[in-house]
Amino acid sequence: MNNSLPPGWRVINNTGTWSAPAAPPDSGSDSEDDIGLTDEDLRPDSPGWEDVEEEVEVASIKCLICDEKLDGARKMVVHCMESHSLDLDRIRKEHRLDFLATIQLVNYIRFQVRSNNAISTDHLISNPEAFRQDRFMQPVLEDDALLYSIDELGNPNDPEDPLAQKSEDGDVEGGAEGVGESAGHRMVVERALR
Ligand SMILES: [Zn+2]
Repeated sequence: MNNSLPPGWRVINNTGTWSAPAAPPDSGSDSEDDIGLTDEDLRPDSPGWEDVEEEVEVASIKCLICDEKLDGARKMVVHCMESHSLDLDRIRKEHRLDFLATIQLVNYIRFQVRSNNAISTDHLISNPEAFRQDRFMQPVLEDDALLYSIDELGNPNDPEDPLAQKSEDGDVEGGAEGVGESAGHRMVVERALR
């Protein structure tokens, strides 16, 4: 595997900009004018690479129903609706589920799915007492990333959603606009124009 950049390429990321040496290295040269990064600096295990990789990492949330992983709670809500006809927004809206009740709902669904029991939106709406139980405060899935993102399950289009109200304490009105920092974390490799 060749991890070094070809001569003439340039990498821009949030730690700065650097270029590969323009010319192939002359063997045995001790000249100090070669201040470009060496092959050593371009290896993925050098410090700069580690930092970037950590920031690029996104929360991976397992779907409530299938094994698919999604990089955000809202994306999982949409996926559950489109792929499994499970309307989490409607269930939560119908019973005005707050933070704790939403945790119970999540764990209840995970528990039922693990037990191979069918889950349906209508059933959950007509039987809220099924999941409104203390025992479903207990995580069913080990290290369930979704439980760390309960706030994100709030419907940004429903101002009366208890979870959406909570997030309005910040300055994230409308929620979905947050293109934010991720673009700055993305590493861009571009061909230097010479
Ligand atoms: Zn799924």
